[in-house]
Amino acid sequence: MPRFYVNLPLEQASKISLPEDVVRHISVLRLRLTDTISLFNGDGYDYVAEFSEFERRKISVKIIAANLVQNESKLNLTLLMSIIASDKFDWVVQKAVELGVTRLIPIYAQNTQRFKADKLSSRMEHWRKIILSSSEQSGRARLLELLEPLELASAVASSTAAAKFILSPHHAGKLSLHAHESVDLLVGPEGGFNQAEVELAHQAGFNSWQLGGRILRAETAALSGVSLLQAHFGDFA
Ligand code: SAM
Repeated sequence: MPRFYVNLPLEQASKISLPEDVVRHISVLRLRLTDTISLFNGDGYDYVAEFSEFERRKISVKIIAANLVQNESKLNLTLLMSIIASDKFDWVVQKAVELGVTRLIPIYAQNTQRFKADKLSSRMEHWRKIILSSSEQSGRARLLELLEPLELASAVASSTAAAKFILSPHHAGKLSLHAHESVDLLVGPEGGFNQAEVELAHQAGFNSWQLGGRILRAETAALSGVSLLQAHFGDFA
């Protein structure tokens, strides 16, 4: 059943006029009056809806069922991802949704470029759209929480997770396998972290975690780390 995000309150038996972007999408998919669709707004439910008004530019639906979606990982996982080349970062955002990351914090490390204020708001909007379409595709009914970029120093200082890891190819360290309910995972930019940044993270309680002896691209490291964390403490087991 086609599934669409709407930023609207949804409840059983209510009638909703669909926003323009969803109307356009429905027309691209060539859906018909007799089809049913699924809507979600991030509250954890999927709402089955049937069309009650179906015109070219105006479509309304009636919600006929509300189904609780239980596909969130039990692991509260925050990915602190250094900002990397935009196509690569987009890819990480999309995969983070699929892999069940709870929260994503873009990080300004010394080796990353800062966004100017006007550029930042359009980037945030762009990333939010990726989160919505990846949620539609992956069946998540809770949205990954996206924070505005933080400087590495304030991000590590404000981390409150039970376990914290910094991915580093140059610092020996393994994943500790005690059960963890919440984990923060810090990943470096293309040029890596400098020694002062690694020390700052260590002082804030982050443990080094080395993924083998090869240098991975930042996006590969992020996805490998997230997958391993879901396998040990989340819902990949
Ligand atoms: N020249 C950089 C360096 O030597 O640090 C390479 C950085 S790497 C392309 C980007 C990021 O991916 C690193 O900062 C680290 O967070 C992560 N990473 C890459 N390979 C890794 C590995 N083998 N183990 C742990 N983390 C790794």
